[in-house]
Amino acid sequence: MLTVFGSVALDTIRTPTKVLKDVLGGAATFAALSASFFVKPGLIAVIGQDFPKKYHNILNKFLDLRGLERDNGKTFRYDGSYDETLSHRTTNKTELNVLSDFYPIVPDEYKKSNFVYLANNDPIQNTKIIKEFDGVKFSMCDTIDFWISTRREDVIKMMRLVNAVVINDEEIKLLTKTQNLIKCAKKIMEWGAEYVIIKKGEHGSLLFYEDVVFPSPAFSMENIVDPTGAGDSFAGGMIGYMASKNSTKISTIREAAVYGNIMGSFAVEKYGTDGLSKLKKSQIQKRFNQYKKMVRF
Ligand code: AMP
Repeated sequence: MLTVFGSVALDTIRTPTKVLKDVLGGAATFAALSASFFVKPGLIAVIGQDFPKKYHNILNKFLDLRGLERDNGKTFRYDGSYDETLSHRTTNKTELNVLSDFYPIVPDEYKKSNFVYLANNDPIQNTKIIKEFDGVKFSMCDTIDFWISTRREDVIKMMRLVNAVVINDEEIKLLTKTQNLIKCAKKIMEWGAEYVIIKKGEHGSLLFYEDVVFPSPAFSMENIVDPTGAGDSFAGGMIGYMASKNSTKISTIREAAVYGNIMGSFAVEKYGTDGLSKLKKSQIQKRFNQYKKMVRF
């Protein structure tokens, strides 16, 4: 079983073509929706009283919600703007709301999960929760500049406890205070993670393990409208695929990184979570096969 823990949000996303106000978002939302194409993930997260029924219905359609709590207060909110190129996002506001004093509890039914994904979230909560599972075979975490800037030491502590760290190129540089991506990855491996996956947006990803680097390009896309959640969809697709195979073999992890790229490509094609919630399973294998042709030489 796979458990995903992290933020469920109401996002305001400003793209050059459209402004989305208070739409369904959150790192755990994208990751879990993406993973749901491979296994049925259990979600652990908190929402507020203002979380709309229509978004609850979307989550309920794809996920096991026994770990979703509704607290008094407002849902976590994120507000970000993209520039013309869609490759740079500025954070306008992060309002933690119910997330700030959330005390996550792992439901008994999730405790036997052998795959756990700690999506972008408070690193102290992530560190607490990972210890509550009975026999995790593979755990992975992500983080974002907000946590690196405010809780760097806690982010590092969290990374000592997981098998894999998935993180984007700008954030790994900020976290490790190093510019070269190989050096950045090595630093995180020194802290304890066996695998480091650097997400490079439209340029794909680099998977590091032992002394090997496995680069995989992003699926080449002509029409990108909203990159929000691409990284989370990448991670969710990756660990969802591994969970579906119940495997942590390196050949599976390499394939999983490719599925990560494929799922990221669906996320950016539509606004908000539409790229995932309106996706058909058959489209994934089709794109995976096209990808195989694309990279063959
Ligand atoms: P990504 O585009 O992959 O970086 O993920 C964007 C998602 O992360 C958005 O839907 C936000 O709601 C969520 N997010 C942004 N900032 C934070 C934060 N500080 N903690 C947790 N989740 C966040």
